[in-house]
Amino acid sequence: MAATETTETREKSLNFLEEIIEKSLADGSVKEIQTRFPPEPNGYLHIGHAKSICINFGLAKKYGGKCNLRFDDTNPVKEDVEYVDSIKRDIHWLGFDWALERYASDYFDQLYEWAVLLIKKGLAYVDDQTQEQIRENRGTVSVPGTPSPWRDRSVEENLDLFERMKRGEFPDGSKVLRAKIDMAHPNMLFRDPIMYRIIHAEHHRTGNKWCIYPMYDYAHGQSDSIEHITHSICTLEFDVHRPLYDWFIQALGIFPSHQYEFARLNLTYTLMSKRRLLKLVQEGAVMGWDDPRMPTICALRRKGYTPASVRNFAEMVGVAKRDNVIDLGKLEYCVREDLNKVAERRMAVLNPLKVVITNYDAAKTEYFKAVNNPENEAAGTREVPFSRELYIERDDFMENPPKKFFRLQPGGEVRLRYSYLIKCEEVIKDAEGNITELHCTYDPMSGEGSSSDGRRVKGVIHWVSAPHAVEAEIRLFNPLFTKENPDDVEEGKTWEDNLNPDSMVKIKGYLEPSLRDVPVGQAVQFERVGYFCPDTDSTPDHLVFNRTVTLKDSWAKINK
Ligand code: ATP
Ligand code: MG
Repeated sequence: MAATETTETREKSLNFLEEIIEKSLADGSVKEIQTRFPPEPNGYLHIGHAKSICINFGLAKKYGGKCNLRFDDTNPVKEDVEYVDSIKRDIHWLGFDWALERYASDYFDQLYEWAVLLIKKGLAYVDDQTQEQIRENRGTVSVPGTPSPWRDRSVEENLDLFERMKRGEFPDGSKVLRAKIDMAHPNMLFRDPIMYRIIHAEHHRTGNKWCIYPMYDYAHGQSDSIEHITHSICTLEFDVHRPLYDWFIQALGIFPSHQYEFARLNLTYTLMSKRRLLKLVQEGAVMGWDDPRMPTICALRRKGYTPASVRNFAEMVGVAKRDNVIDLGKLEYCVREDLNKVAERRMAVLNPLKVVITNYDAAKTEYFKAVNNPENEAAGTREVPFSRELYIERDDFMENPPKKFFRLQPGGEVRLRYSYLIKCEEVIKDAEGNITELHCTYDPMSGEGSSSDGRRVKGVIHWVSAPHAVEAEIRLFNPLFTKENPDDVEEGKTWEDNLNPDSMVKIKGYLEPSLRDVPVGQAVQFERVGYFCPDTDSTPDHLVFNRTVTLKDSWAKINK
């Protein structure tokens, strides 16, 4: 199979991060690999984060090192414990565990001390300019910035003002602490980057202790350094930040963590910005963060994805240095591959056509033995009830079929999976000519795969016994966006206009009775139909099943 080949090839040739790590281990510059996954707790993790998790935890594991979980909680306004909890749950679900659980806020005291040190070294100053003035005076790539009138404050004055900022003497936005680097630097980030801003807001961990909060560029590298992170792995958009990352570490003379960048994961028909996903949740465009149409990890779990399928996907797309967009079909391919191995088989009819077996005793029920998983003998068998009235899929019957149609047709015979051969004797229609039911006869000698005269039929179809069938709401999911690139919009429209109105279709299905007992989130294969799992909305009185993925492998076909 294509996927296995890719995995094996990749195991032989190292990706660029593995090369970097092996080199640093070989030349002795690093003794033990230490990585971290650094989410900002301002939303739920998505499939892009899953890739970052697999890389950071995966590399630490592969090279006998450690990976920390560090919450980048430097913006009190957007962050929440709800998100912290969901992030931990999702990482565990993916099958990883962290060495240390840390928060950037754990380091607020240390970061403050270091800021004081930079002021003393003449490398930081308090600026009274407004946000807009700072922006205006930054210049452009071709025009150097204008130094702030406050740039040359004395060390004493800066120390005094910075301490009073911390004490809460000044309102939000009235002052910032900036690094004093170079207002004409070609890298705009070096034009006296802001280190601290004043935000009088309660923080989910430090409460009201602080009213000044460090910026990402000042907090991230120093937090890495405190944890002795050897390989600080992040996405490509941070590559322009790397020199600044190094600058702070050098200026402070602390543990030299290094940053490495890889391409972020982009998927067709999918958006991965937490800000926009939050908007969909807040506006009710989806049922919540875990709506099965969302690209979040909790949504994939609710939809019936397995942790292994997500890990395999991360492995399959690999680690690239250049941005690209991955076909959503690859993710579906991975879950299909895994579920084919692990999911039990069941029978369910989603678009029913009633079949009456006219020569079968109306009072009788028989039970046929059905194999739970042909890929795994240990999964055993179960009993499926059979009676005079059945449902089959409407598509499995054709009144005027083309030549190669081997399923049920007038006068034709078909095998009912695990059960008898039946023959269609009569097609019943309503006044408008719609087919309402079929009258068939069965061959009593043909149970469980054999027939009385040894004849073989080509078609095998699934079915459920009508009186035993359990009704369920079935939710069929389609991509959340109609465009491959949801940002591909016409003038005057927004990405939200690309939301797919048919992203969720609810239908009624008829299930074999054993499907009552499937645990929430565990996918089973409805034979010949697809993979489905009970949704969190499911109750004993109202079963709800999600379609995890269809059975057909469109991606593999495209990539043959
Ligand atoms: P978003 O833009 O979706 O809000 P983010 O980058 O702000 O994402 P963080 O919580 O800061 O989210 O991300 C934590 C880690 O996950 C970072 O190291 C980030 O680089 C990585 N990451 C985020 N999105 C992706 C992605 N699409 N592919 C790979 N890694 C990602
Ligand atoms: Mg971020």
